[in-house]
Amino acid sequence: MRLLGYAEVFRPEESSVSHTLYKNLIGGHMVASHTGKTFLNINPANSDDVIGEFQASGAKDIDDAVAAAAEAYKTWRLVPAPKRAEILYRCGELLAERKESYAREMTREMGKVLSETRGDVQEAIDTAYYMAGEGRRLFGQTTPSELKSKFAMSVRMPVGVVGMIAPWNFPMAIPSWKLFPALVCGNTCVIKPAEDTPLSTYNLVECLTEAGLPPGVVNIVTGFGPDAGAPLVAHPGVRAISFTGSSEVGRIVGQTAAANFKPCSLEMGGKNAMIVLEDANLDLAIEGALWGAFGTTGQRCTATSRIILHKKIAAEFTKKLVARVDALKVGDGLDEHTQMGPQVNQQQIETSIRYCEIAQKEGAKLLTGGSVLEDGSYDKGHFFAPTVFGGVKPKMRIAQEEVFGPVVSLIEVESFEEALEAANGIQYGLSTALYSKDVNKAFQAMRDLEAGITYINAPTIGAEVHLPFGGVKQTGNGHREGGTGALDFYTTWKAVYVDYSDTLQRAQIDNAD
Ligand code: ADP
Repeated sequence: MRLLGYAEVFRPEESSVSHTLYKNLIGGHMVASHTGKTFLNINPANSDDVIGEFQASGAKDIDDAVAAAAEAYKTWRLVPAPKRAEILYRCGELLAERKESYAREMTREMGKVLSETRGDVQEAIDTAYYMAGEGRRLFGQTTPSELKSKFAMSVRMPVGVVGMIAPWNFPMAIPSWKLFPALVCGNTCVIKPAEDTPLSTYNLVECLTEAGLPPGVVNIVTGFGPDAGAPLVAHPGVRAISFTGSSEVGRIVGQTAAANFKPCSLEMGGKNAMIVLEDANLDLAIEGALWGAFGTTGQRCTATSRIILHKKIAAEFTKKLVARVDALKVGDGLDEHTQMGPQVNQQQIETSIRYCEIAQKEGAKLLTGGSVLEDGSYDKGHFFAPTVFGGVKPKMRIAQEEVFGPVVSLIEVESFEEALEAANGIQYGLSTALYSKDVNKAFQAMRDLEAGITYINAPTIGAEVHLPFGGVKQTGNGHREGGTGALDFYTTWKAVYVDYSDTLQRAQIDNAD
């Protein structure tokens, strides 16, 4: 059932061609960009399928959206948090009702298989319910004052207008990680979705609007990074920035934010290792490797991109893994039998090609894959064969740099200690996994792997929304999405002192003796 408000706000205008024209959502209205330019959102599995036409926005559109968000902030911050939370809860229910159709649209715009896009919408549903619960918590502290007849507490305050820049690999889940905690905390938002996957953000905000979110509380401005993303980061009216994307762009975003002393949450790359020891359940580890390396076509920041194998099981693991990879069914994600979809765009395909060349030049052995799939049903999409490299050494570029494609490297080691050293010997620190039945080694791995996430007997992907998500080293700048870490980013602490003594009491002076 479509709720009140949908038709006015979200009915996109039919353009002269056969696809739908989407405008920016600013202050509750759909408005065309000042630039007069648009871009097409095209299915990566089938270039004949145009999902829609979106605004290629610029700085003036960002100005308008920030002004709308600033206006809405005046009243939204005063709505009691439990009431804000009820809107999130209703939004979660609407998302659940529309899960299948949103998942199909997401597969069309992003490429990943339907079971995964259903999971992506589910993640937004889970985040809605979880953050709705926070509306009745948002705990601060009360604490004794050092002075008589004086009360002390700390309370969470919203930050103000928050700018959000999202990537394309989790088209609804990642916007939900950003929007829902920001909203329950009382902030208003301007979000710039990735240029490859804007529709899923519209679908998410459609549910928020129908759930009762007032106009201007969330504004969507679509467009390209340097044109629409950069002015959002630099805008003086934006009080905090949440960015998920490449380390290269994250560095630019972080530097701009730092120059304005603006809080900035960066969630970036990974080069995630799975360690398989000699006592591991090998079949389980192979299942985990397939899912971790080729789920989302390897385009996850948590993708398993290095598998570190103890030499005693390396040959058997490699043989079995390659056989399973060869049997993977690659194709259009809308086909329920497909196990791995296309890459999101041609640029990602070119990155995969480049790294396969680099790996071979470095002396790694191509065990399977390594090429673009172009024949027959693949001719209208961006398909790359699932690829495994053997004989990889920890310092090779293929073992150090993020590919963000269906390419995994196998590294052989002689001991657990050597495995830990190889796992940690990279610039990133997002996710890690250990396959072993030895409880002592499991706890040692949990302690010693330098990463924001460690899985035991499970692959490097599969985060749950109520735990902190993020990493160390060049993966991030210390913030966390998910869990209560998100609340820490979207609120600022205020210390409140209430002196009911009716006298001047000076801290550290009048009570010094
Ligand atoms: P990916 O390689 O996954 O596309 P990017 O870091 O290039 O990752 O993009 C992630 C998001 O950052 C996208 O929404 C993109 O439009 C945006 N972006 C790209 N360049 C900039 C920039 N200079 N300033 C702000 N945002 C940007």
